[in-house]
Amino acid sequence: MKAELVFSPEGGGFGGESSRNAGLAAVLPLDVLDMTGNGFLVLAESGHILTVSHAAARLFGYDSDELRERPVGLLLPDWPGEFDPGRMAPGRVAYLTGRHRTGESFPLGVAVGRLVMADPMSRVLMLYGVTDQGAADRRSQRLLTIIEESNDEIFVVVPGGWRFQLVNRRARDNLGYAPAEFDQLTLLDINPGLDAEQLVAVHRRLRDTPALEITLPGIQQRRNGSTYEVNLRLHLLPSDSTPLLAVLARDTSEATRNEAILQQHSFYDQVTMLPNRVLFRDRLRRVLDGRDDRSATGAVLVISLDTIALVNECLGPADAETLGREVARRLSDAVQVRDTVARVGDAEFAVMIDDQDGDEDAGALAERILSALHRPFQLGDYQVMVPVAIGIATFPDNGRDADTILGNAATALLGVREDFAVGYRFFTDGLNLAVKNRVALNNGLSRAMEREEFSLVYQPKVDLVTWQVRGVEALLRWRNLDLGSVPPDVFVPVLERTGLISEVGDWVLEAACDQRRRLKEAGFTEVRMAINLSVRQVRREFLGTLRSALAGSGLEPGDIELEITESVIVKDGQAAVGLLREIADMGIPLSMDDFGCGYSSLSHLRRLPLDTIKIDRSFITDLASDPEDAEIVRAIINMGHALRRRVIAEGVETIQQLAVLRRFGCDEIQGYLYSPPVPGRELMALLARARVPLR
Ligand code: C2E
Ligand code: MG
Ligand code: MG
Repeated sequence: MKAELVFSPEGGGFGGESSRNAGLAAVLPLDVLDMTGNGFLVLAESGHILTVSHAAARLFGYDSDELRERPVGLLLPDWPGEFDPGRMAPGRVAYLTGRHRTGESFPLGVAVGRLVMADPMSRVLMLYGVTDQGAADRRSQRLLTIIEESNDEIFVVVPGGWRFQLVNRRARDNLGYAPAEFDQLTLLDINPGLDAEQLVAVHRRLRDTPALEITLPGIQQRRNGSTYEVNLRLHLLPSDSTPLLAVLARDTSEATRNEAILQQHSFYDQVTMLPNRVLFRDRLRRVLDGRDDRSATGAVLVISLDTIALVNECLGPADAETLGREVARRLSDAVQVRDTVARVGDAEFAVMIDDQDGDEDAGALAERILSALHRPFQLGDYQVMVPVAIGIATFPDNGRDADTILGNAATALLGVREDFAVGYRFFTDGLNLAVKNRVALNNGLSRAMEREEFSLVYQPKVDLVTWQVRGVEALLRWRNLDLGSVPPDVFVPVLERTGLISEVGDWVLEAACDQRRRLKEAGFTEVRMAINLSVRQVRREFLGTLRSALAGSGLEPGDIELEITESVIVKDGQAAVGLLREIADMGIPLSMDDFGCGYSSLSHLRRLPLDTIKIDRSFITDLASDPEDAEIVRAIINMGHALRRRVIAEGVETIQQLAVLRRFGCDEIQGYLYSPPVPGRELMALLARARVPLR
């Protein structure tokens, strides 16, 4: 009940005659009134009972629930009679007859109050005892029963000595004392947290401020010494003789339980019930702080399972939760009892080995975890394999504080991920550097476009028969203020991983087409512009980009050429082959880059609408000295010709290499021997020197 009663009765509730003149001006919460044993009824304007205090209900022989919504005439048969609540002055007590459930009538004093914060038309009837001693006795008896049976602990104590006048059953049960034993005790004995001075101050305040209630947290001590938390509500009982202090103690263990649930939520993963990141970090901290001799040794393993996110996306959250729980179970089985297993993210678990004896090996544990998680997981009708990556940081070697250790374990995990590996990796300083560089690389690349840090250079491809430049390859360059020039072998894979390659690739296409247009305008009509295509770019949308790039620069499809690697087909199979066919059907020549180093599949060569095969540089390097490499090169050239493809050798640096290639009938070369890649502004001069026929 949230409503409050504003009331100025002459009497003081069920205190009987002696409390009549207490002059209490009550502004009390109704439920407190109820607890103190006041009898009251709250009536709707219609005269129906809205609320009835326990004391009042018992007075009439009912449970309070039974009386709700009933007409008040049931209890006060001559209601309202002369008693007009609308006109009664607050504090005036009228005398009516009450009717007990048994039919017995008894005299009753009634006063009217109004409710604050409730329907203004509702009324509170305060019920008072009358002079009839018999009725008063009955009433006191009933009241005592009510107090005795309250769910809260109720004490009535005498201020000053704080001895008990009354202790109800709940209090006796909770505290474990026999009723007689309370005679020897004071409120301070059962509430060791309170002190006499504090109680004196409380008493003074209660005395000075009528109707005040003071709430205090308390810890009650049982007879056996154990304690429990309570919420104490103290108020003065209206009395003109001995002042009495009423103490209601509510066991807050339920509240404590709620707190525990709350704590459970903030420290544990709700799906697996494993500690979460917060608790894990805290435990790690404790292990590290707990050893002032700096002897804490152990390891943190961070275990990443991206599949959980995938399952969530494809099969739904229920299956993702099942998977999470099963992973947690297998992990817990794999570790030793004293190790801490936690779920530190949606798709990340962690294990802490607190290895006092130095006999637990993080590597061996990682192996155990890998094999435990290697078996497929059954999710409904699906069997799901869960690739696992584990990053390990040991302490004190890889850090002495929790954050450093966790960070280094995460770095080690990145190391595994970046290698696209499934397995585990220990943190090393080198790895740290590599990852730091990678972070710098990622950051730099994400802003490289807007900062215009990319440029293109062009390397000629020369016909071995006519010695004419038949084309140039556009090669991407990136120059960053902090990192300097970064080679494409380093940054292109990062662009691919981060997906930035689409944007950058589009820019390359446009810039190369633009350069090709300028060559054309300068009369170099036969110099085809070769553009490298990443696997990630081979998508349907790319066809549109390609068309508009050609249209935008006014080029014919045959003015450019696209270099792809076998990985395109390996990754996307039939779909990629279909797309490449469409590109070829547009009239754009395709060449197979780096041939010989990857899959070198004859069937790829046959399936694809290729124009040219480029032999990988690694075979050219030792071509003149290594007969085996020479044989491979010869075979590739012959195979290419058998399939009616042109064959070009890349990375040709020496005359000797050139001689061998000529002998084998290679069609073109590209390499430092003829020219390194050059910037656009030099390209024109280079081509002019090469005396490419001008048209
Ligand atoms: P790639 O397509 O095989 O390019 C040939 C690489 O060999 C180029 O390296 C070139 O500078 C280098 N090279 C040429 N002649 C010689 C030589 O005689 N000796 C030696 N040692 N090297 C030679 P670069 O420019 O570092 O490019 C490396 C790779 O990066 C390229 O290999 C290509 O796969 C990729 N790449 C470059 N630009 C782009 C681009 O615009 N888009 C995409 N997707 N990849 C690109
Ligand atoms: Mg290339
Ligand atoms: Mg190549």
